[in-house]
Amino acid sequence: MKNIVICGAGPAGCMAAISAKTHFPESNVILIDQNDHILKKLRLSGGGRCNVSANVSVQTIIEQTPRNGRFLYASLNEFNSTHIQDFFTSRGCPLIEEDHQRLFPKSHKAADIALVMLNELHRLNVELQLNIYVNQIDLHNNRVITSDQTFNYDHLIIASGGLSYQQTGSDGHLIKILSQHVEVEACYPAETPLVSNDALIQSKLLQGVSLKDVSLTLLIDGKKKKQVKHDMLFTHFGFSGPGVLQLSSVCRDCFEKKQSILMIIDCLPHLNHQEVESLIKEKTLSKVLSMHQLPKRLNEAYDVLKENITPTQFLKAWTFNIHDMRGFNQAFVTSGGISVKAIDPATMHLKAYPNVSVCGEMIDVHSHTGGYNISLAMSMGYHAGKHCLEASKKER
Ligand SMILES: Cc1cc2nc3c(=O)[nH]c(=O)nc-3n(C[C@H](O)[C@H](O)[C@H](O)COP(=O)(O)OP(=O)(O)OC[C@H]3O[C@@H](n4cnc5c(N)ncnc54)[C@H](O)[C@@H]3O)c2cc1C
Repeated sequence: MKNIVICGAGPAGCMAAISAKTHFPESNVILIDQNDHILKKLRLSGGGRCNVSANVSVQTIIEQTPRNGRFLYASLNEFNSTHIQDFFTSRGCPLIEEDHQRLFPKSHKAADIALVMLNELHRLNVELQLNIYVNQIDLHNNRVITSDQTFNYDHLIIASGGLSYQQTGSDGHLIKILSQHVEVEACYPAETPLVSNDALIQSKLLQGVSLKDVSLTLLIDGKKKKQVKHDMLFTHFGFSGPGVLQLSSVCRDCFEKKQSILMIIDCLPHLNHQEVESLIKEKTLSKVLSMHQLPKRLNEAYDVLKENITPTQFLKAWTFNIHDMRGFNQAFVTSGGISVKAIDPATMHLKAYPNVSVCGEMIDVHSHTGGYNISLAMSMGYHAGKHCLEASKKER
């Protein structure tokens, strides 16, 4: 009997275990995690509701993946949003679609997504080894050395996640171990909130205010670098929400180069400057805000700023300085990790070690928020599990 060992029980590792046991039912599949339960990060995801996928095409998922999206074609052709919807629905956990095509469990409980995966692991007789830390991987002798025992493998799948929210178990240790053997790209926080030291933000006047479907433009040294139309949130330190998180992907290099970064908010992107100007001549700012479902608290913000900007500038080109971005403890995902150059995308095997596969956030691939990252993790996990014993088949 072949031993398939999987390190990491996040969405990538759990789906890899389910797929490996489904495709190689005669094998012994062992799933190891340092936590005392599976899917710790997924249970926190989507504010505890788990935005498990997005009801979009493979092409859209790739477009929403700013880092190495094309690497995912083979995985996504095998397991994508349609398969994720079928997987959970057919196991008693239907999904519902919300704005921006985001999919959540109908129960609004991330724990229900985790329960479906746990039941499936039990049904397939996957051996769960929890509360065990993988200290070392001996790639030459096919051994995983843990805090508890040593596991021999015929095929190893590593799905240990990135470096964000390390309290959930993804501490980057196995990326470091693999960096001794294969090419690894430096890791950085991605999809992370932006910090502004501007007085209005520091006053916390707008903390908790969210804006829906606004246009956000990032200017780097005065030049337009990126524009998105999405939701945003004012926080006590700056900005968060899906639109801002998307902008963060182009900011990192700018801080390193000490470039100036401005974020311009257009609260009424469906109206042009002239139209807003005429509206403001006819109606008070407060009336315009309520007509367009903008929060009343913007009035208070304008009172603070009115010496320096007109109401039209405030609504169409409200500008903030960006001074920093949040680190791994608040980043939704990690940029960097195992280089895609080291992996065969058709199988997820490491080119240098064909009896070892990698999948999920530990690879140098990440998407925007909106259900894409869990989808990618599950897609790569499924693909890795399906093709895991292929190398050993060829060798025989
Ligand atoms: C707060 C938050 C909310 C999010 N919300 C969403 C969302 O709603 N939708 C979405 O698509 N994405 C969301 N994401 C991103 C998404 O959760 C991750 O991209 C996804 O969980 C990555 O899956 P993974 O299996 O690759 O890694 P992980 O989920 O990080 O799992 C890796 C597992 O490996 C284990 N592990 C690591 N090293 C070792 C070791 N040495 N020994 C033993 N075990 C080890 C860890 O304990 C962990 O359980 C969110 C992220 C955060 C931080």
